[in-house]
Amino acid sequence: MQKELIMGYATTNPYTGETVKTFDTATEAGIDAAIAKADEAFQTWRDMPLAERLPVLAKAADLLEGDVRGYAETLTLEMGKLIGEAELEVKLCVGMLRYYVENAEAQLAPRTLSAPGYGEGDLQVVKEPQGVLFAVEPWNFPYYQVIRIGAPQFAAGNSIVLKHASNVPQSALKMEALFREAGAPEGLLVNVFASHDAAEQILADPRVRGAALTGSEGAGAVIASIAGKNLKKSTLELGGADAFIVLEDAEIDKTVDWAVFGRHWNGGQVCCSSKRMIIVDAVYDEFVEKYRAKVKDLKPGDPMDPATTLAPLSSQSAADQLREQVEAARAAGVTVEDAGVEVPSQGSFFPPTIMSDIEVGSETANSEFFGPVSSLFRAKDEEDAIRIANSSPFGLGGSVFTSDHERGKRIARRLDTGMVYINHPTAVYPDVPFGGVKRSGYGRELIELGLLEFVNEKVVGVSDIDGPF
Ligand code: NAP
Repeated sequence: MQKELIMGYATTNPYTGETVKTFDTATEAGIDAAIAKADEAFQTWRDMPLAERLPVLAKAADLLEGDVRGYAETLTLEMGKLIGEAELEVKLCVGMLRYYVENAEAQLAPRTLSAPGYGEGDLQVVKEPQGVLFAVEPWNFPYYQVIRIGAPQFAAGNSIVLKHASNVPQSALKMEALFREAGAPEGLLVNVFASHDAAEQILADPRVRGAALTGSEGAGAVIASIAGKNLKKSTLELGGADAFIVLEDAEIDKTVDWAVFGRHWNGGQVCCSSKRMIIVDAVYDEFVEKYRAKVKDLKPGDPMDPATTLAPLSSQSAADQLREQVEAARAAGVTVEDAGVEVPSQGSFFPPTIMSDIEVGSETANSEFFGPVSSLFRAKDEEDAIRIANSSPFGLGGSVFTSDHERGKRIARRLDTGMVYINHPTAVYPDVPFGGVKRSGYGRELIELGLLEFVNEKVVGVSDIDGPF
């Protein structure tokens, strides 16, 4: 699902439909200047001791924490997120920044190797930054995505040129200003309102050393191929269709609550939303009846109103695209049920929808539905549930609901994904790695796994000049 950049960069409130601000797309010269600025920042930043770099991250965390509401309001304005969820996103960013303030020194420490083949000499792997990175980020978590790549890479000593999604330009500018205000060298994070085509220019530039993209499969394939052509590393955090497996020994009422949350938070627009509910036959009817009832309780409305529990989609085009996908599923024979939630006529709302009778391996089963659309699958038993879960081309997260934790962990090992949570939908935490396999991409973000993705792990060996050959 790759959308074209037709409108350019603009803030359009998804609840009112009003375009409140537009921004010019960067020229080739503007992009060159942005790379130069990020490179200049890198030259200063890389030589600053960690003890001077980390306080900048700490200050950025304090600035976010000091104005959670102000930062959150920009998210709600630009992509329609519920204000409470927007505040949680800001707090999650604080957590990620502080995680690296506390842990980066140990994670970046040189590693001494004991290598009998090398002999007695002094042998280390040291971890050094490489330069400017190109970060391409999506609109669904406009701050979290930037900090998820920024906090570890800034701790490591790299700088970033950011191309954010075209519908969240003010969020992008807020992230750029955050690091400036936190005392980073000018250009540590440079935002560019780049066209899609600009990726060629950016990744061909020798000052740019790698690309990190979070977004759709289509965008991932484009950025990874341009990076590959230029012999540069990329990491891809792409879409998902996470399985939410419900076994016969699950606590059904609580499981239903998690399912409704897992599918509908952030308006259903989360890469690791619980998109495919796979329920064993023994409890299928009970689960579905209770799930329907709870979905019906969702309250769509103004995302600034704390009583609202269902946000509009990020844009009208996102709602239109989802409608087309649902209609294609219906035409293919899938049972499509309106969950009975009346959504406002104003704003880019999509009515919660429940799909069932979906053939495993079909287009519907294998697609990502980015919004409040639930896919239900009836599995014969545990084995069948694992088979259905692994039939997806995606491999991001997944969950297993069972009262037997050891059983859950055994099943988790058999799911072909990057993350599995027992008795919880796939979640985001500041100190737990994130990423997937198969068409959900490659590489990891967060903890030391994310920090080391763009670090040069360099071998430095000191030999005895009179030693053996
Ligand atoms: P998208 O269209 O791929 O957009 C993501 C970013 O890529 C935006 O900045 C977009 O810019 C840019 N982009 C798209 N095509 C491009 C191209 N050909 N060249 C250069 N840049 C390009 O994704 P989306 O549909 O807005 O976002 C939702 C997707 O992201 C879903 O599939 C979701 O699952 C995935 N996602 C994954 C994770 C994860 O961690 N795995 C997290 C969040 C979201 P424009 O806005 O200018 O088009």
